[in-house]
Parts: sequence; structure tokens; C-alpha cells
Amino acid sequence: MMYKPRLMVPGPTPLPPEVAAAGTFPMVDERTPEFAELFTGTLGKLRQVLGTKNDVLLFTASITGAFESAVANLFRPGDRVLVLNNGGFGERWAAMGRAFGLDVVEITAPWGEENDMSRAAAQLAADPSIRAAICVHCETSTGVVNDIEQFGAITSSVLSIVDTASGLGACDLRADEWGLDVVVGGGQKALMTPPGLSFASVSERAWRQHATATLPRYYFDWSAARDALGASIPRTPWTPGIGLIVALDAALTRLLAEGLPNVLKRHVVLGRLARAGLAGMRLELVAPARDGNSCVTAAYLPDGISGEHLVRQLAQRYGVQITGGTGPFADRIIRIGHCGYVDALDVIAAITALELTLHDLGYPVQLGAGAASALQVLTSNAVRQARKQPRERTMKCPAPT
Ligand SMILES: *Cc1c(COP(=O)(O)O)cnc(C)c1O
Repeated sequence: MMYKPRLMVPGPTPLPPEVAAAGTFPMVDERTPEFAELFTGTLGKLRQVLGTKNDVLLFTASITGAFESAVANLFRPGDRVLVLNNGGFGERWAAMGRAFGLDVVEITAPWGEENDMSRAAAQLAADPSIRAAICVHCETSTGVVNDIEQFGAITSSVLSIVDTASGLGACDLRADEWGLDVVVGGGQKALMTPPGLSFASVSERAWRQHATATLPRYYFDWSAARDALGASIPRTPWTPGIGLIVALDAALTRLLAEGLPNVLKRHVVLGRLARAGLAGMRLELVAPARDGNSCVTAAYLPDGISGEHLVRQLAQRYGVQITGGTGPFADRIIRIGHCGYVDALDVIAAITALELTLHDLGYPVQLGAGAASALQVLTSNAVRQARKQPRERTMKCPAPT
């Protein structure tokens, strides 16, 4: 039996047809008014999705690059920063801060739990030498989504920096309303774009702190990025991933056409489906079963089943690419990504394939139990409401340029 490839990891994510087609865009010179118009339009759409009026700087780099730009552009050696760490990405930002010579203070929560904002608030109150706080929005290593609205509220006296790599476009985020100074994200998660582009929004307060920052930077220099944006023909200081910008623009156009509230509702439903499916086959969920955890869903594996082996078997037998765990969860969990260009039937296919694979591996699943639980979610009233959306038109072609 032939099975179609189904990409169900929390980045990179499947490309909508018009985003894939954008990859065939003929090359252009980015230093032209025509490209500048597209580019500034893309930044405008990003601002809408981020909920900000702040500057948004775009980088040709994976999201870690944009995050590095924030560290290098905001601090002096020895500056004290607070990192809220509840998983693999919190760990990454603590390690990056130390690599740049920052004095990193951490508040940790166990993997699978949310960051504790009241502990972070107490730490900030007790230590006025802390200059900034860093929090991950969706901690992709576990699927836990942190309360970024609360994070914004407790960081009014310091700079707030948020990693929304996998959160943006899957989970609610309102940069200005929540008082976030720097929000870092990228294209390859819920924004449905091939990897290689990342961005940071920068508040007035962050620009002021940037003016005092002395850490070395060059490629990622925010002043250079701002100057290039302010030129008579707005651009990036260095050659950007031109084709990726065209693709990101197509993806953001789709996202805004679906409507951000609809997009978020769809992800809530996808999260419910994944949780119901996994629980239905009696796997224990890693993160709390909450609507907010709508980007990726993780579950522990039964004893004697290796995550790596299961992930590989699932891909080889049924074409469904999910992923395993990292750090303390290596080989112990599986993660199903359901962010971006994903619909309910994709999740049900992944659940069904997972049941089949567990069955093949000798784990006593009742075939169909996971899918049945998921279908139950799909037919419930709440979901019917969320489902009333314009049908995807399969014949829609990108406009010729
Ligand atoms: C994917 C992801 C990143 C970025 O990783 P890159 O490989 O550098 O693009 C950062 N933070 C989180 C939470 C992520 O999910």
C-alpha cells in the first residue's frame, strides 16, 4: 500500500500550495521599489499577526539567529537576565545568554509544566539588578504553552523577551496589548513557510536599551537593520532570502484571509483532537489537557516502546512523520505537531497510523479507540461552531506576476 507523506512535526510544517508555488518565483533584485513594496507589505502582515505597531526586523537565519540578535543587541557583558526555563528551548536561551557572557538567573519548572509567573515576579521584585526576562511562548519540547499575558504583566519594570517560534499563528499572542518588548519568531512553524527566515519585534524601550548595549554583533546588528528599513528603498542590510520572503508573504496572506481568530480556533480544535486521540489509545499526556496547548501534543510511551523506533516505524510504514522527545524525554515520548497548514483529518490520520503502528509493535491497543475519541471531538457542538469556515478551494492558483 502506498501512503502519502504527512508532515506532522512542530516545524518545519507542510506548505500550502501557493506557498510552495512561491518557490518558483523568478529571482529579482531586492534593491528595487517593486521588491521593497512586497517586503514592507510582508512586515506589515507580520505586525498584524504579532499584534504590534513596533518595528519588526527580518533576518535570513533560523529562529535561533533572530534570538541571538536580541541577546547581542540588548546587553552588555555581565548584564543579569532572568530566564524562565520549563523545557528544551528555555534551556537553549539560558545557554545562549551564558555563551554571550550574561549573568543568567533561572527560574525552572519541570518539563511538562508551565513556568511559574508568581515565582518569576518575586525574583524580579527581589533583585532590581535584573535587566530583562526571557520566556518561551509554546515550549515545543513538551507542548506546554506559557502564560505570556501574565509574563507581560510581571515584567513591566524590565525588558520582556518572548520566543514565540512555535506559538505565533497557533496560540494567542498580542505583543502590544500584553506589553512585550521583544518578540522573536520565524517562518517554519505555524507560519507555513520553508525554514530560513526569522524576525524580532522591537519596542521603544528595547531600542533605548539597544543604544547602551555593547556586545559584539555585525550580521545581526539591529541598527544596521533599522537603517536599511529607513532607506528610501526599504530593504535589509544584507542580501535576504528573497524567495523565502515571497513565500512568507503568501503564507501570511493566507493566514489573514482565514482570519487570525479562525486560525487560532482551528488550532484549538486540532489540539483537542490530538489529546482525545492519544488519551483514547490510553497514552498519558505530557502537558495539561488545556485548549491553550494548541501547537504540539506530546504523550508518554508505554514501557518497552522506544520513541525513536516508533517514530521511524510510523514514517516508514504509514508515511506519517511525527517526532520524539529531547533531553530528559529522549526516547520516552512522542510529539505530534499540528500547527500551520494542518486540518482535522491530518490529525486523525496521524492518530490512526499511530494506533496501527503500536498494534504492529505488539502494544495492546484497541484499534480505532484513539480515532473514535478524536471523531467524538470533531462532531461535538463546540467544534461545529469553530468549523464553519470557508472551504479550501483546491483550484486556487497564485496570481501571475
Ligand atoms: C523551533 C523553535 C525554535 C527555533 O529553532 P531554529 O531551529 O533555530 O529555527 C526556537 N524556539 C522554539 C520554542 C521553537 O519551537
